[in-house]
Amino acid sequence: MAVYVPEHIAAIKPYVPGKPIEELERELGIKNSVKLASNENPLGASPAAIKAITDSLVNLHRYPDGGGYFLTRKIGEMLGVGHECVVLGNGSDDVIGMLTGALLGPGDEAVMACQSFLMYEIMVKARGAVPVYVPLKADLSIDLEAMLEKVNDKTRMVFITNPNNPTGAWIEKHVIDGFISRLPENVLVVMDEAYVEFVAKDKRFTTASKEYIESGRLVSLRTFSKAYGLAGLRIGYGVMSEELALVLHRIRQPFNASIPAQAGALAALGDVEFLEESVALVQSELEFLYSEIKKMGLTFHRSQANFFLIELGRDAYEVFNAMLKEGVIIRAMASYGFPTCIRVNAGTRSENERFIEALKKVLK
Ligand SMILES: *Cc1c(COP(=O)(O)O)cnc(C)c1O
Repeated sequence: MAVYVPEHIAAIKPYVPGKPIEELERELGIKNSVKLASNENPLGASPAAIKAITDSLVNLHRYPDGGGYFLTRKIGEMLGVGHECVVLGNGSDDVIGMLTGALLGPGDEAVMACQSFLMYEIMVKARGAVPVYVPLKADLSIDLEAMLEKVNDKTRMVFITNPNNPTGAWIEKHVIDGFISRLPENVLVVMDEAYVEFVAKDKRFTTASKEYIESGRLVSLRTFSKAYGLAGLRIGYGVMSEELALVLHRIRQPFNASIPAQAGALAALGDVEFLEESVALVQSELEFLYSEIKKMGLTFHRSQANFFLIELGRDAYEVFNAMLKEGVIIRAMASYGFPTCIRVNAGTRSENERFIEALKKVLK
C-alpha cells in the first residue's frame, strides 16, 4: 500500500461480525434462514419504538439534538443519576471508542479478560495502547483477583463485562466491591452491562452502583441493541461522572445519536411491557435449549445473558459452516478463544427448534 499505516493499526485483527441473514440467503439462494449469532432480540423491537422512529422521519433533514435532551434525562431518571452523567453513543461500541480515545495514549495499558468482547482489544490497540489479557476462571467467570495483579503504573482502565460475552457468567457484588476497594483510584473500571436486563433476580448480583459512577471510579456501558431489540438503530450510552462525561464530549462526534435513534430509544424505555416480554421469552427459551442440548449429550454453560456457549469437543468452525448450509447462522468462537465452542442466542421456539434439528443433522 502506498499510504503509510502505523504499525499498531496494521497489527489489528479486524472484527468479524455475525453473518447477516441477507448475505447467507444471497450466497446459498435459500429463504427462511435463522440467525442466532448476534444476540439480537427474537421478538424484534417494541412497537412503540417503531412508531416513534417512523414518526421522527419527517425531521430527517434536520441535524439531531446533539445533547440528547430527552433521552439523557429519561436515562438519568431511570438510573437515579443526573442527565449530565449520560453520554449517548452510536451503539455502546461508540462509547468504548470515546473512552479509549480520550483516556489512552501510546504505551498505556488496559486490562481485560482474555475471553471477552472483542471490541475492547481493537479499540485499545487503535490508540497505540496495550491490551493486557487475563484468563477466565475455571467456571468461565472473569478473574478479578488476577486482574488486580496485572495493574501497574501504566494501567489506565480495566474492562469488566457483566454478564460476560461470550460466556454469560456474572460476578458477585461483594467480589466487585472488594476489587474496586483495592484498585488504585486513578484506574477507571469500565463495566460493560450490555446484557444486564437479562440477569435473573438474585441478591448477589448488582448493576453498576451510583456511588462508583458519581465518584468517577466506574463507567457503566449500556445498549439498546440487545434486550430492546434495536441493534440496527445504533444507540447505546455510557453512565459516568459528570467530569468524565465532559472529557468524552470533547471528542464525541456532535451528532452521533441520530434523530430516529433518539426517538426510538426514548420510546423503548417507555415500553416496559415489551422489555419484560422479551426477557421472559429469552429466559424460558434458554431453558428449552439447555434441555435439548443436554439430551444430545453435549456440554454447555448456563448463562445470565440471552446467549450461551456449547462445547462441541471438535472444531467449531466446521460445524458453523455445515450449519450455514442448513440455513442456521450461529457463531464459531475461535476468535473469542473457544475453538471448540459455538455461541447461540435464544430465538423464538420455532427458530430454536430449527437450530436443534440442524445441529443434530450436522453432528450425526
Ligand atoms: C453487543 C455488545 C455491545 C455493543 O453493542 P452496540 O450495538 O454497539 O451498542 C457491547 N458490549 C458487549 C459485551 C456486547 O456483547
